[in-house]
Amino acid sequence: TPAILSSRQHSLKRSEISRNAVNVVERLQQAGYQAYVVGGCVRDLLLQMPPKDYDVATSATPEQVRAQFRNARVIGRRFKLVHVHFGREIIEVATFRANHPEDDEDSPLASRNESGRILRDNVYGTLEDDAQRRDFTINALYYDPSTERILDHTHGVHDIRNRQVRLIGTPRQRYQEDPVRMLRAVRFAAKLDFEIEPHSAEPIIELADLLLDVPAARLYDEVLKLFLAGKAEQTFDLLLEHDLFAPLFPATAEALEHDPDYTDTLVRNALANTDQRIAQGKPVTPAFLFAALLWPALPARALELQGRGIAPIPAMQEAAHDIIWEQCQRIAIPKRFTLPMREIWDMQERLPRRHGRRADQLLENPRFRAGYDFLLLRESAGERTDGLGDWWTDYQEASDSERRGMIRALS
Ligand code: ATP
Ligand code: MG
Repeated sequence: TPAILSSRQHSLKRSEISRNAVNVVERLQQAGYQAYVVGGCVRDLLLQMPPKDYDVATSATPEQVRAQFRNARVIGRRFKLVHVHFGREIIEVATFRANHPEDDEDSPLASRNESGRILRDNVYGTLEDDAQRRDFTINALYYDPSTERILDHTHGVHDIRNRQVRLIGTPRQRYQEDPVRMLRAVRFAAKLDFEIEPHSAEPIIELADLLLDVPAARLYDEVLKLFLAGKAEQTFDLLLEHDLFAPLFPATAEALEHDPDYTDTLVRNALANTDQRIAQGKPVTPAFLFAALLWPALPARALELQGRGIAPIPAMQEAAHDIIWEQCQRIAIPKRFTLPMREIWDMQERLPRRHGRRADQLLENPRFRAGYDFLLLRESAGERTDGLGDWWTDYQEASDSERRGMIRALS
């Protein structure tokens, strides 16, 4: 039986919850189903942080949920969910699910691979089952807006108070079921400024390579969440500490060994810039981030190709292509980002060549700003460029006649 916290025993106020989420819960309850607001939003509100979105858990099946709303769509293959749309807000409604029946090999609803990883799990269950199959205790709190009570099956409230990320159940087994939970542990520790509870942290180093079996498309989603949540630098430290960085970015991990100071500084500065931009509400592009993460791997690879008799510029091109291709086997970066990555890198070769009309043509290039920012990033990590960044800074601010003077002065 869960601990039940009445409205006087917790700080969550019904009025803080999205009106749409409350409406979804009440509608399902009126139709005779159990329904709760659950997961990250309850956790974040207890920590006085703004929730990213709202999740609802219910005893109704996806089809039964859909039947209650006009604006609902069933989505997902791995997990079937219902999205209820209210303008731009989407309330995600999931049916109570059970943890995997381990001995039930032939079930068409649930399956695992050899290492114990869950491949499908649409086995429905009770509220208690649903709490136990969630990843962390802090993510397994159920709030009922009609009674204003919180149901806590796993001592999640205690762990929120003590700022601990603690897996539910046996950590090793839970990571084997779904290795992405290792990344989620790091993500929540960084985002919330929590500690990974020691028993939950302990098996990670040994199991880190299980990430190699996770589909590249899923890792792409997770890596974006890791680095675009405003705490990328802390996340990087935690990934390194728990040996989770190398299975995600093998080429960068190699560069960290060969050229530790430069690689660490460049990556760290890129991540700190990203965090700063997010804090200021400015847009960030995954292309710039991935371009920065992989850049330190380029020189060694290009040299290796040059050693095989390839000229410097084609060697650089081929190295860029190979590194991106290999990275995409791990993390499926979409083409709409790999193309601008290449353009940002290509721009690094063009920025020094400024004679004649070249400088003005570069300025008109839609990728100029990203290329210039990238040049400043390289300089911030100690790369010697003969004042090229300053030159471009001045050039952008200069008048036409000053610009002509700057070009003349080059020769
Ligand atoms: P965020 O603030 O990033 O949205 P969240 O806790 O809401 O954090 P989601 O990825 O939106 O995270 O997942 C919603 C809930 O589903 C989680 O709180 C957790 O209870 C459960 N969950 C998500 N992923 C897993 C997983 N891999 N294993 C077990 N439970 C999970
Ligand atoms: Mg969420």
